[in-house]
Amino acid sequence: MSNVKSSAKVRLFVEHPLGQGQTIPLDRDQAHYLFGVMRHSVGDFLLVFNGRDGEWLVEVTEASKRGGALGCVEQTRPLQMPPDLWLLFAPIKKARTDFIVEKAAEMGAARICPVQTEFTNSERIRRDRLQAHAVEAAEQCGGTFVPEVAELERLDRVLADWPEDRQIMFCDEALVGAAQALSSGGGKWAILIGPEGGFSDAERARLHAMPNAHAVSLGPRILRADTAAVAAMTLWQSLLGDWA
Ligand code: SAM
Repeated sequence: MSNVKSSAKVRLFVEHPLGQGQTIPLDRDQAHYLFGVMRHSVGDFLLVFNGRDGEWLVEVTEASKRGGALGCVEQTRPLQMPPDLWLLFAPIKKARTDFIVEKAAEMGAARICPVQTEFTNSERIRRDRLQAHAVEAAEQCGGTFVPEVAELERLDRVLADWPEDRQIMFCDEALVGAAQALSSGGGKWAILIGPEGGFSDAERARLHAMPNAHAVSLGPRILRADTAAVAAMTLWQSLLGDWA
């Protein structure tokens, strides 16, 4: 089967359960992509994952313009969960917000939480569109897990309900270097990135007063929020995550 697996060029996310003997029905959009765009037909192989059952090699068993079906052949990879890391960020312009979600999914965030801070530029997000970006990123990067994109929530409400057992890597123009700030060890974490306008004084004071919030500097230059998200995830993953 290994030569069949390496010939499988397409990797697709599906909602359906995956397992020995399972048949996966395809909707019109999936059929258009597989048979119209990728030119697959009955007997071809591809890889699928659903974020729960790992990655599976499947064979096209039915193909038409409006639908089709895939049959599970064998599991090619088990589900690999990322570390328990959330990324909290204040939505910025559309393309840059899309970038943050895509990169967070590629870099191994377990959950992506848009938060509305006092100076957040955007008051609305299209959660379904952002979730689709996370799915595409997982398809592309070989991930077997797809982080959930949460609804936009006000930062003050999120902090009021903050779980005691989760640390916050609070990205601010602080004096402490990351290695020192992250020395409290692994476990449950969240990274918090502010909006283009930065955090308000009240937000900053509130975060500094929280015992599990750790202010982290990302260097002497002010990074754009999307760059800061990627830089912070890189730091966290290399010091406490699954890159070690
Ligand atoms: N004018 C804003 C300020 O001074 O706070 C700039 C905000 S910056 C564009 C957006 C977010 O990226 C910040 O709220 C912070 O979370 C993060 N950030 C950018 N540069 C940083 C740095 N050098 N150290 C720590 N965090 C940084």
